Amino acid sequence: MIQFLDLKKLNEKHYDSISAALDKVLKSGWYILGESVNEFEKKFAAYCGSKYCIGVANGLDALSLIVKAYYIGEGDEVLVPSNTYIASILAVSSNGATPVLVEPALGTYNIDPANIEKHITDKTKAIMVVHLYGQSCDMGPINEIAKKYNLKVIEDCAQAHGAIYEGKKVGNLGDAAGFSFYPGKNLGALGDGGAITTNDEALYTKLVAYRNYGSHKKYENLYKGVNSRLDEIQAAVLSVKLDSLDNENNHRRTIANYYLENIKNDKITLPKVESESQHVWHVFVVRTENRDKLQKYLLDNAIQTIIHYPIPPHKQIAYEEWNHLSFEISEKIHNEILSLPISPVMTMDEVKKVVEVINNYE
Ligand SMILES: *Cc1c(COP(=O)(O)O)cnc(C)c1O
Repeated sequence: MIQFLDLKKLNEKHYDSISAALDKVLKSGWYILGESVNEFEKKFAAYCGSKYCIGVANGLDALSLIVKAYYIGEGDEVLVPSNTYIASILAVSSNGATPVLVEPALGTYNIDPANIEKHITDKTKAIMVVHLYGQSCDMGPINEIAKKYNLKVIEDCAQAHGAIYEGKKVGNLGDAAGFSFYPGKNLGALGDGGAITTNDEALYTKLVAYRNYGSHKKYENLYKGVNSRLDEIQAAVLSVKLDSLDNENNHRRTIANYYLENIKNDKITLPKVESESQHVWHVFVVRTENRDKLQKYLLDNAIQTIIHYPIPPHKQIAYEEWNHLSFEISEKIHNEILSLPISPVMTMDEVKKVVEVINNYE
């Protein structure tokens, strides 16, 4: 079986350096907000080219804390893509603000800048862009619209660690960005983890305290904060794995380019790559009319695939108030997409096998 993502194999590659890092934390006697988190925050900020990084408990917290720190809540609206993972939307609604769904472009699956302006009202406070599947959104026009209407731009970078837009890394393309280090992401911990990057000093100062009970100084509280800290252990693992992120992304790119050049089947639509952006291929998503049939055919040929995601946010039971709405592009995407195996530990023999099997699909 060609696995969609072999996490065990992926982390085993780093076995010695991860073990040494874990041993160091164990023996340090300091397990929360210490040297490892400090070091990782500095290293990750430098990697993204942003001034500041704040380690938090997970990707959802990273996004919802940004929304909260910008005082976006009850009565405010935030634009989000209609085909994103539910976390981007929860980050808005959990703060009492209203997510406003914006249709993506069918080719790239990313928010379509041409659809943004018609959704802006006097309640709109921010645009949450999601660099979905590993490709940066078209940030030029998005930042222009944000400037025109005085909106914050919040990036959801959970699937795009290391992706580049016009020479700048994601996480450094808006006002603030949220990252997830969930184990299966391009930069993954051995458990939950997340981070916020920003160049906004005031936001940084607030969030550093906010994630730790609103405390800037032990037992003194500036805000009614939360407990959302990145663990020392996870930070130590992430510092080790960050050193290999570019290499691992390059391997993903090699696989993606092989798929793009060699998959030749009228029934399959390949993802569109924007020339000005660098894709890090968190997932390789194709479209086909009879998706379930393709998925079964691949499984019968020992190839595991996943659907990111089978149900659009507006059709989820959790967002019942949206169930009557229709978002044609998003619905089409959700009905037709399938993610092929791609990972830093997939071999080129496996990639060739996938291409061969897909090219024989009828
Ligand atoms: C994974 C993911 C998140 C949430 O990350 P967690 O660490 O699981 O909370 C947010 N947005 C997107 C697009 C994701 O893929």
